[in-house]
Amino acid sequence: MAKRLNSSRVIIALLIAVIAAVVYLYRHKLERAPEPGPVSGKLTIRFLDIGQGDAELVQLPSGETILIDSGDRGSATVEMLKKYGVREIDLLIATHPHADHIGEMRDIMRAFKVKELWDSGFPHTTKTYADMLQERKDQGIKFLKPKRGESRKIGDALLEVLNPSNDLPDDNPNNASLVVRLTFGSTRFLFTGDAEEKSWQQMIASEKDKLRADLLKSAHHGSSNANNEDILDAVSPKIITISCAEGNDYHHPHPKVMRLLREREAVKLYRTDMEGTITATSDGNTIEVTTEKQASKNDIYLTGDELAERNGAKPDSKKKSAARKGM
Ligand SMILES: [Zn+2]
Repeated sequence: MAKRLNSSRVIIALLIAVIAAVVYLYRHKLERAPEPGPVSGKLTIRFLDIGQGDAELVQLPSGETILIDSGDRGSATVEMLKKYGVREIDLLIATHPHADHIGEMRDIMRAFKVKELWDSGFPHTTKTYADMLQERKDQGIKFLKPKRGESRKIGDALLEVLNPSNDLPDDNPNNASLVVRLTFGSTRFLFTGDAEEKSWQQMIASEKDKLRADLLKSAHHGSSNANNEDILDAVSPKIITISCAEGNDYHHPHPKVMRLLREREAVKLYRTDMEGTITATSDGNTIEVTTEKQASKNDIYLTGDELAERNGAKPDSKKKSAARKGM
């Protein structure tokens, strides 16, 4: 009798151990980085040097093209896209309605066949934004306002939307920025628009596992209200890019952010104001970065104002009012 009791205890203990192991393995699998395959060819991402603003061109080895933001009105984005062989744009993303992100959208829709447009859905009353919406309407381009939790597979790339949530902010368009993580094989890229601290806090609270990325496009052009230790810890990038113009009137990148990045020297920093267009390629396992121009290691942590002062670049006075609005 005692023997039988002992053996049933052993069986129960073994069962519990097996269940615990299965639960552990299942959880571990969910948290693990995505598997390297199945991808073929190389993904190319270009952080275009369009001056003060954002424009990121993603070209998949299977031929699809994604463009995230257009740069400000008057930027040479259309010419650049032609130079990089763009004929059609499968997905155009307007992270948020500020002009330095959507100023060239109408021209881009007129110059290339655009199949789909994503918008943050933040209501905005500028002519630039109205022009973008009108053009997409005139052309009958598919129009979506994706929210946190939605995802899309394009070629071998997976796009996950991390911001905004269903509750759009009622004050600041920056916090409505579409934040999208792109996974290609085991490499991950985080595109952040101008998302500021408030939206980052929400993402860190609800999407922490999905924030991890190898390459982070610094939000809001290296501004101090969009880059801090909590964000860097959550994303844990190996590479950071900053898109801004030399001599910009917004003081980007900010001294606090430059100090923070200098403390994390292992994270490789690239910036368009010094290095021109930044190109990152991924084979699904590793990311290689090249730049149009070379910046010296000593200069890379100069603040926006220090760089402008050293090179005698004058801030653009036309942008002063925009600077005050936090664009
Ligand atoms: Zn911006």
